[in-house]
Amino acid sequence: MGEPRVLVVGAGVSGVLLARRLRDAGADAVLIGPHGSGAAGRPADATAASGGLVRAFEPDPAARSLAAASLAELLADPSLATAAGWRRTGSLYLLDAAAAAGVDGAEVLTRDEVAHRFGFAGLPDGTVGVWEDRAGYLDPDRLRRTVLRGLGRTETAPVARLDDRVVELRDGRRLTGDLVVVAAGAWTPRLLRAAGLPTSLRTKHIQYAHHVTGVAELPCFVDETSGLYGRPAGPGRVLLGLPSDRWDVDPPSPEPDAALAARVLTVAARRLPGLDPRPAGPPVSAADCYSEPAGLALRHVSGAVHTFTGGSGGAAKTVLAASRLAATALLNTRTAIPVPHGQTEAD
Ligand SMILES: Cc1cc2nc3c(=O)[nH]c(=O)nc-3n(C[C@H](O)[C@H](O)[C@H](O)COP(=O)(O)OP(=O)(O)OC[C@H]3O[C@@H](n4cnc5c(N)ncnc54)[C@H](O)[C@@H]3O)c2cc1C
Repeated sequence: MGEPRVLVVGAGVSGVLLARRLRDAGADAVLIGPHGSGAAGRPADATAASGGLVRAFEPDPAARSLAAASLAELLADPSLATAAGWRRTGSLYLLDAAAAAGVDGAEVLTRDEVAHRFGFAGLPDGTVGVWEDRAGYLDPDRLRRTVLRGLGRTETAPVARLDDRVVELRDGRRLTGDLVVVAAGAWTPRLLRAAGLPTSLRTKHIQYAHHVTGVAELPCFVDETSGLYGRPAGPGRVLLGLPSDRWDVDPPSPEPDAALAARVLTVAARRLPGLDPRPAGPPVSAADCYSEPAGLALRHVSGAVHTFTGGSGGAAKTVLAASRLAATALLNTRTAIPVPHGQTEAD
């Protein structure tokens, strides 16, 4: 039995890297989906909108192991780092000391050290900072475009309909695979439901904005105690955001939330009094696909159909390792490859 033909639906960073890993492993992977950018400067998808913060530390052990493996791959391969627009800034993750217990490979700073070194104020008692010198941010859109260029043959027509092993394109053509992987980010739940397939995947709003600031040096950071996250964004600029509570939003660019943007300024003034951020344009407002448990992973849906999504706002940091794992799992999924009538697995 030869390697399977895998139809990968969606040319975001997840689909593109999965197709790359599959081809590297000898499979016939067909990537399907438009590669264009959004209208009027609005992001086309989560990959184009992403803030790109990457680090090894995550509070959840499964996400941590994928994030650490992805960062290790990036740091070990200078051409990959260049392709991904990698910037090393360091990363500070603020959380309760109990949740940081057992962290290795990173420095754990006390609340006073965090205040002294980075200017954070008003942190609750018991907050610590997980400091990673070798973390930073990348440009997922640039990584996607570089990997795409190396893929050669792809189908740029969108998928109109899924029907187990058959994928119907909007230009009327029908492609058949042994396996179908829907890696269409926030579009995935809708595509599955339209095909009558069950899913617990949901979409959620993510919003951040660029700000002008007088502060010269700021690492990538996540402050779990307030929700505030950010990173440097060029000279005299920072990107700042807070988690949104809007679920089931439509991709690609949901309406920006003005109240959320205002709350960012209030929280930033409390946590980083020296920052004085002033918005430098409208917020970036986009959607991502969320799963429970959270995380970019291969999930079997039904018959030949799988999903590779569910990044839940964090797949830029896990996609290198997650795509490798997903490709291996797909190529080992003999049971999911329908055996043609009259044949047995032994043929
Ligand atoms: C605003 C924002 C900030 C983020 N910041 C970070 C961060 O700092 N760090 C981090 O680790 N992660 C971050 N993330 C998360 C991460 O960027 C995403 O999880 C990741 O980019 C998702 O990639 P994807 O390929 O799964 O989905 P997408 O990038 O959404 O790609 C899905 C693709 O499927 C295509 N598609 C849709 N319908 C069809 C169809 N019918 N046929 C064919 N193709 C179709 C779409 O056009 C799209 O290109 C952020 C996400 C957002 C939205």
